[in-house]
Amino acid sequence: SKYTWVDKDTCIACGACGATAPDIYDYDDEGLAEVIFDGDANHGVKAIPEDMHEDMIDACDGCPTDSIIIADEPFNKEG
Ligand code: SF4
Repeated sequence: SKYTWVDKDTCIACGACGATAPDIYDYDDEGLAEVIFDGDANHGVKAIPEDMHEDMIDACDGCPTDSIIIADEPFNKEG
């Protein structure tokens, strides 16, 4: 399985990831990106379905600050 998480400490709120993968990434009140898929709330614990992996990888590749992280195991972040 694949999991994803946004490092808000380095996100610059450019808006690219939500445009590329709107079912996975959206923005908080400050415009910083977060993982919203299946209520993830940027914990990085929801497995991203295979048919969404291409969009997820495109968003990761397109992030100018490398703030989108992808891994094979859940992140279990606080948000
Ligand atoms: Fe933040 Fe990267 Fe998404 Fe831009 S593409 S909003 S810098 S996570």
